[in-house]
Amino acid sequence: MRKPIIAGNWKMNKTAAECRELIAALAPKVKDATCDVVVCVPFTDIAAAAELCRGTNIAVGAQNVAWADCGAFTGEISAAMLVEAGAEYVVIGHSERRQYFGETDKTVNARLVQALKNGLSPIVCVGEMLADRESGKTDEVCRTQVTGAFENISAVDAEKTVIAYEPVWAIGTGKTATDEQANETIGHIRSVVCELYGKKVADGMRIQYGGSMNAKNVAGLMAQPEIDGGLIGGASLKADDFAIIVNAAK
Ligand code: PEP
Repeated sequence: MRKPIIAGNWKMNKTAAECRELIAALAPKVKDATCDVVVCVPFTDIAAAAELCRGTNIAVGAQNVAWADCGAFTGEISAAMLVEAGAEYVVIGHSERRQYFGETDKTVNARLVQALKNGLSPIVCVGEMLADRESGKTDEVCRTQVTGAFENISAVDAEKTVIAYEPVWAIGTGKTATDEQANETIGHIRSVVCELYGKKVADGMRIQYGGSMNAKNVAGLMAQPEIDGGLIGGASLKADDFAIIVNAAK
């Protein structure tokens, strides 16, 4: 049995003061959750979020991590810095980073190495563009992204990693993959993990769906056997909506 994991991706939203308000409102609403609950907040909110989440069942995550320990990498934040600030998780390779900031499978892999080396729990994002889906290339794109992300990653480390399947055309658009589409592609991703690491790792790995997941569609998605939770953008910014999603993930 895989324990579901629901992670909010706040993207570039919420100042530290707003972060405190949101977590204070969220914590009592999700205190009885049976899934893992994570909020992936902007870098500048991590310390405040960690302070507020102490003693609750909510873990704090970052939205990126540098591929180096330290050095001349202006604008980057190292894994050690994230850990010290209170992050336990980190999102790597989100499609917005791939689209706007030149993230590639190679840099995703390097960031994954760094996260694992420092004890962060990575959430690695993969997913196809609309044109890929329309031309029947969804499985091929996901295979390339998963294989690239996990290059030279050991089975022990792979087991600690969560994959988020996020069709790019469903992110922030209000369009959700159907329950069956999401389940089928996640099943394919699991088969790629099985080819790389064997059945035990593939069966144990948690693979989330992400892309306009919300309070209305969560039940259908979570009822699918391959879907182990969600990475949630827009709906994670409202305590009531995010709590409904968390409490539906059983
Ligand atoms: C995301 O940012 O990973 C995401 C899935 O966003 P949204 O839920 O807003 O589509």
